[in-house]
Amino acid sequence: MRMGGMYGGGMPPGGIHKGPDSPKAKWSEMDFARAFKLFKPYTRLLGLILLLALASALIGLVPPLLVKEVVDHAIPDGNKDLLLEMVLLMVLLPVAAGLLGVWQNHLNNKVGQSVMRDLRHKLFGNLQRQSMAFYTHSRSGEIIQRLTGDVQAVQGIVTGTVVNAITQAAITITTAVILIRLNWQLALIALVILPLFIWPVRRVSATRKRLRVETQRARGEMSAMLGDLFGISGAMLTRLFGREGYQEQRFGTFNEKVMGLELRVNLVGRWYSMAVGLLAPLGTAVIFWYGGVSVMNNSLTVGGIVAFVFYAGRLYGPVTTLLNLHVEAATAMGIFVRLFEYMDMEPDIKDAPEAQELYNIAGRVEYRNVSFRYGGSSQGKHALRSISFQAEPGELVAIVGPSGAGKTTLIGLLARLHDPTEGVVEVDGKALRMITQSSLRKGLAFVTQDSFLFHATIRENLQFARLDATDAELEQACRDAYIHDMIAGLPEGYDTMVGERGHRLSGGERQRLAIARAILRNPRILVLDEATSHLDSESEAYVQAALERLMLGRTTLVIAHRLSTILAADRILVLEEGRLAEQGTHEELLAQNGLYARLYRTQFLKSTPKSEAKL
Ligand code: ADP
Repeated sequence: MRMGGMYGGGMPPGGIHKGPDSPKAKWSEMDFARAFKLFKPYTRLLGLILLLALASALIGLVPPLLVKEVVDHAIPDGNKDLLLEMVLLMVLLPVAAGLLGVWQNHLNNKVGQSVMRDLRHKLFGNLQRQSMAFYTHSRSGEIIQRLTGDVQAVQGIVTGTVVNAITQAAITITTAVILIRLNWQLALIALVILPLFIWPVRRVSATRKRLRVETQRARGEMSAMLGDLFGISGAMLTRLFGREGYQEQRFGTFNEKVMGLELRVNLVGRWYSMAVGLLAPLGTAVIFWYGGVSVMNNSLTVGGIVAFVFYAGRLYGPVTTLLNLHVEAATAMGIFVRLFEYMDMEPDIKDAPEAQELYNIAGRVEYRNVSFRYGGSSQGKHALRSISFQAEPGELVAIVGPSGAGKTTLIGLLARLHDPTEGVVEVDGKALRMITQSSLRKGLAFVTQDSFLFHATIRENLQFARLDATDAELEQACRDAYIHDMIAGLPEGYDTMVGERGHRLSGGERQRLAIARAILRNPRILVLDEATSHLDSESEAYVQAALERLMLGRTTLVIAHRLSTILAADRILVLEEGRLAEQGTHEELLAQNGLYARLYRTQFLKSTPKSEAKL
């Protein structure tokens, strides 16, 4: 629960949810130009693809002419050489076309994959810049879907739309030219009956597209749900509450929906094939009828009709594709716009333009009149109200108060997980907004109660704090965190993999690793959440000892749960419903006999672990 609170915050400006999820994102010419620009580095490749497409289209025009030669000349004239020549060409040309096709396909993929790589890179960069608020408000499955699924769809756009347009236009134009040259009247008829074919096909494709989008969304929902359920916490929750049946039922609903949609897409596809299947003979019949009459009038040869039928058949596919192009383009632009929205998202926590690097932080911390509301300044109740206090370098400030009082929020502000709605938080007399985030983070370490470990070795997890730390330094940090002996006792020592979220380590061990990480970082300011309720008393004693060593000589802001921490604190802040109810040393606060005195008697005295005296 606490982590959710700590990382919560206002929605990023613009509302990330509205845009990317809306079924039909509107797009403007600017977006179009921007999408176009993504392909700019690959114009030469696209040019080559165009040439290849043209070459394939031209080669594709030849076979019907060969048939015409065979029917009109080779057979009537008994010319065996010509016949052999034509027949050989009939075999060789498709081979040539096939080879060109393979090459073109490879280039298509290359352009598609390159654009995808560029997009993934840009998106990743921008997602990393986002504040924690963004991550609390988005489901990780959804972000991943955008980074992989949507970007994947771009590949389809390149081969399916851009390249298709080029190829089909090349085929259509060359075929139309040759039809007109063969017999312009007949060509006119063929072109007039063309819309008959195309109209139903267009309708079908539009329906199909719509269903595709719906299917895509249903699949997205399903995978987001799976992400929740099969993550460790989700899986555990399901088990703990014995909700397997309920979850299965929920999954079943999504599963059914995906199946239903897929079936409909497929059915629409069948209608499409049937429509074309029924209409194609009609077109052929008209050509044979008019062509036959023309042959009788000697205005066309028999070979001419045969060639004509071939060509006319060649026209329908590409023309349909071309006419559907706007649907494709709209879908494609929808995806691009969604991606652009993610790319343009401004992090709500960013460095002020005049922000400075802060070298050699001394560690003076001051909160001045700080108020904070989740969800921005206009909505929501105050999580913090007019908090003011200061900590001199090296001082220990303990924060206590009932649950929900705003403790987590308060320490989150110092790490700049969110910015105050009013007032300022200062380090060394400088407002946090005026210090670059990178230099602030160098001078500050944050140890939470739920310490995350990457699925990697212990060494790699430790090095995350300092990439250039030597083995000796790692070991020293682990000794100081009272975890070295335990690691050294593992069969693979520092090279032991810790599973997803470090589940093979106990809570106390994970926490001590997190402390070792903070020690490696050697920050001037430390932000701690001390809750250790889930630890047994022995690990708690170790964690406690490790923490004490970590806090030594550093400015520390700690959500305190242990009596020893509170007693050692230079200042205790007592929070109640977001307000600073009391502030002072243990003795001073006891003397006031207010909230602190009450908390002290009911909580801290009781929660002192018996083992604390041992170390
Ligand atoms: P504590 O750490 O003292 O238990 P928190 O700082 O976690 O308290 O919470 C203070 C108040 O802010 C609570 O009322 C809580 O419900 C609210 N809160 C915490 N996180 C969020 C969030 N992400 N969005 C909205 N409200 C939140």
